Amino acid sequence: MILSFLLLFACKVTGIEDGVRFGPLTQVKLTYTSVFVGETGGGALVLFDAGPQEDGAKVEKALEPMGYTLADVDHLFITHAHEDHIGGLAAYPNATRWGLGLEAPLLGQAGHSLDTPLEDGDVTTLDDWSVEVFSVPGHTPGNAAYLVGGVLVTGDSAMLFRDGAVGPPPEKYSEDPAQAAASLLDLRDRLLPRAAEVEAVVFSHSGGLDDPTAFWEQAPASP
Ligand SMILES: [Zn+2]
Repeated sequence: MILSFLLLFACKVTGIEDGVRFGPLTQVKLTYTSVFVGETGGGALVLFDAGPQEDGAKVEKALEPMGYTLADVDHLFITHAHEDHIGGLAAYPNATRWGLGLEAPLLGQAGHSLDTPLEDGDVTTLDDWSVEVFSVPGHTPGNAAYLVGGVLVTGDSAMLFRDGAVGPPPEKYSEDPAQAAASLLDLRDRLLPRAAEVEAVVFSHSGGLDDPTAFWEQAPASP
């Protein structure tokens, strides 16, 4: 599974560059996925996704120059409960776990739970940050995207392909591919009236966009 992910993503999506900053977040490249880390104005350390278990040491290394360890992560926002996003959850013992309540059953199957289940549209205030959650079902039932500090964190709701297009993840990796494709277009349509608030779009398995044009210009998936 991991190898097929690796090959597929290496061929089709743009490469992840370690340490690139998008708004208040920095992308941390792991083996074939990534997590995003940022610090609020009040000094809270916030992570988006945990990464796979085996990559805890890589996240720790990325936190080192910031003066932090894994135990210093205060908040962890989960996009969805696939292993490469939540396998490493246990490495963050002091983090409050946030995610859509709809994803709790899948998280439970992996032996994890949420501290604070969210609903679509909820806005969480952390010091000077507000983190808004969007339900983007299909990749998993409780798949989430987050808007924070002008950055849309899509997780696996979307990918940036080498031809510059943004689209849903490959069908074989989504529980309901048709729903995943429709949900991504729905997210685009929901955010379009607020386009000025979206300055960057980031993806777990590819490089990010600091110009979100390709996100707005998504074409419907071919039948
Ligand atoms: Zn996934």
